[in-house]
Amino acid sequence: MLRREKDGLVYLAFKTLEAFPELRHAVFTKRGPGGRPFNLSPAKGDPAEALANISLAARALGIAEPSFVNQVHGDEILSLAPGETSRPAVVGGKEGRDALVGRPGLGLLIKLADCQGIILYHPGTKTPALIHSGWRGSVLNIAGKTVDFLRRERGIPPRELFAGVSPSIGPCCMEFKDWRTLIPEGLRRFKREGGFMDFWAMTVFQLTEAGVPPENIELSGLCTRCDDEFFSHRKGDALRFGVMCGVLT
Ligand SMILES: [Zn+2]
Repeated sequence: MLRREKDGLVYLAFKTLEAFPELRHAVFTKRGPGGRPFNLSPAKGDPAEALANISLAARALGIAEPSFVNQVHGDEILSLAPGETSRPAVVGGKEGRDALVGRPGLGLLIKLADCQGIILYHPGTKTPALIHSGWRGSVLNIAGKTVDFLRRERGIPPRELFAGVSPSIGPCCMEFKDWRTLIPEGLRRFKREGGFMDFWAMTVFQLTEAGVPPENIELSGLCTRCDDEFFSHRKGDALRFGVMCGVLT
């Protein structure tokens, strides 16, 4: 990934997605201006501070205040209409979505600590999508379902999509003691030695199965537990970093 800095914020960007100048995107690290913790989830820590951080991040990218939702490790997709934005009515409530499909002019945010944040982008229609996929989302194949949704609802051919998979817990740290009960048989090929699961390879497989060309997929390959630049639930962090994107009109 590429390292970028703006307005005192350090963030990472996907080389593949930087080919499209109208698409602004960032994987923020856990360090904000002055080195303070840069929490991007209003459901964690101080909500007012998180909202201020979200605004700061959006301004740095030059995109609109982003829509975000309660993330519930499910496979429901929220498609945003022109001019429509979304913020959870009840932060931390039970209702939620785990994928956002946007339009030019809208900002999107997914909050993370070990889960994958997957950006999908279709340059032809300038359509961005952002997916939250932890192990439950991976088992539900929310990545593949979002590609299918874009094809069905927006007429976007999967072969024209580009994807970036954020830093997230890697096969080095994702030990899955209960893999026999939690991982369906068709996905057990991603089990490594000793019950460690490779959810990165699983996502690449699911995206390519859905029709995204492998050469269009960029995998960050950074493990949030090993790399101290990111909040990690498994490390014991209670805050969340974020992936944000938006397309200029
Ligand atoms: Zn690791």
